Amino acid sequence: MTASLSTVAAGTVDFSDEQLADLRMLFRGPLIGPGDASYDEIRVVENLAIDRRPGLIIRCSGIADVIDGVNLAREHGLQLAVRGGGHHVAGHGTVDGGLVLDLRDMNGVWVASANRTVRAQGGATWGQVDREAQIFGLAVPGGVVSTTGVGGLTLGGGIGWLHRKWGLSCDNLLAARIVLASGELVTASDDENTDLFWAIRGGGGNFGVVVDFTLRAREIGPEVALTVVFHDAASGAELMPQWRDLALRAGDEVTTRAMYWSLPASDALPPPVQGKEVFIVAALYAGDKEEGQGIIDEFRSLGSPLFDMTDYIPTFRAFQAGFDPLVENLHSYWKSMYLHDLTDDAMAFIHQLAMSRPDPSTLIHVPIIGGATAAVAADQTAFGDRSAAFMLSIDGGTPDPATFDEVRDWVRASIEAARRLDGAGGAYLAFSGDAGTDERVLQQQYGGNLDRLRAIKSQYDPGNLFRVNNNIKPA
Ligand SMILES: Cc1cc2nc3c(=O)[nH]c(=O)nc-3n(C[C@H](O)[C@H](O)[C@H](O)COP(=O)(O)OP(=O)(O)OC[C@H]3O[C@@H](n4cnc5c(N)ncnc54)[C@H](O)[C@@H]3O)c2cc1C
Repeated sequence: MTASLSTVAAGTVDFSDEQLADLRMLFRGPLIGPGDASYDEIRVVENLAIDRRPGLIIRCSGIADVIDGVNLAREHGLQLAVRGGGHHVAGHGTVDGGLVLDLRDMNGVWVASANRTVRAQGGATWGQVDREAQIFGLAVPGGVVSTTGVGGLTLGGGIGWLHRKWGLSCDNLLAARIVLASGELVTASDDENTDLFWAIRGGGGNFGVVVDFTLRAREIGPEVALTVVFHDAASGAELMPQWRDLALRAGDEVTTRAMYWSLPASDALPPPVQGKEVFIVAALYAGDKEEGQGIIDEFRSLGSPLFDMTDYIPTFRAFQAGFDPLVENLHSYWKSMYLHDLTDDAMAFIHQLAMSRPDPSTLIHVPIIGGATAAVAADQTAFGDRSAAFMLSIDGGTPDPATFDEVRDWVRASIEAARRLDGAGGAYLAFSGDAGTDERVLQQQYGGNLDRLRAIKSQYDPGNLFRVNNNIKPA
């Protein structure tokens, strides 16, 4: 990287036209700045409440672009954001005034079906992984929305539809190639840079830019035993305890979640659920469809549903993308809390909360955790404590910017109120609308792992170049 460049206010990009022309020659991927026609389209992240104006966006085409981008940021003291799928609700994939390394064009996925591994580039989404892996009857434990990035989700943990059987996404990480703050490309795995490998399994984007992930794939699909059933929200008070009991005895093959949401008043939806507040029961069996059908049918036959969507989404891929519309085009603010026990009192609290949601697009989401996730010790990966049986996620969302403050304040008050519940635990930082740099928040996720994370951060990123994230400062 030889270009001679200058910056103004700390961390802010301020390149002359000539300097930008030099940079455009250097990088293979396009460079997009505030003067470019596509700037407003490219700078948008998933959460519409995040409206940041980066000084420059580099659409990286490959490892060389990532290395030169990291060097550019370090040498010129630029604020640096790394964008994978752009889904982090706190907007960690972008930064005001600084440099964004946008990995979206690095979305290649290669499946080695014989040894059941998947290699995904740092900007791939779960939908892209599912497309390539499912053709071979394979899947990697990912999230519940197909447009979320493999990058941020895997580095932050990764809770989805397969975690009770096969663990978090980060538990299925075999190796990652990472561009460090120094610009060096290294591999982290059980054999190489083992401290770094420990840190990136839960420690987020703090340690470098992952250019590709090698992940363990599992045999599942294309057809699976699954269900998605919509009940009237009011019946959640009665159904949730039944759902919990069933979830706890269903075995590790079944990952399930209960949700409260409101469906739009759209003619495209079946009449019984148009414009309705709903309690949703969803479950998936990670194994042979025939074997799993019996237990899944028990989830399906709880109560008297308004509408049963199960037969419309028969495949793993359809299920993985089935929840995408719940969270699109929203101004969002989320908070979460682990629950060691889903007590009757906790369920009554959650139901009451759900019935007072400030906006129909706000989602209350209760996944079961446990199973293979809990079988990994808290200090085995950076992720931290995995002992909770359930999680409460309050996904505040509204399409209307005018009501966003009200939604955000309601989420904050709700999570504070939830702290009194028996069994209340820490938070999942991937579901946090705050920047998450304060000690209490980091402790909630990492607990006893925080000191080791700081020491590893000091070794790999002593200048804290990678700080637009749930930031772990160097020791
Ligand atoms: C609609 C929606 C659904 C979600 N569903 C789930 C779910 O089911 N399960 C779950 O566990 N989480 C879920 N999440 C949370 C998700 O795990 C985090 O938002 C995650 O950070 C998203 O990753 P991303 O790459 O899309 O995000 P980005 O905003 O692009 O990145 C998030 C962070 O990861 C870093 N990062 C991303 N890619 C790389 C890379 N290649 N190398 C280094 N750093 C990188 C970024 O720098 C940033 O700090 C969901 C979020 C949304 C908005």
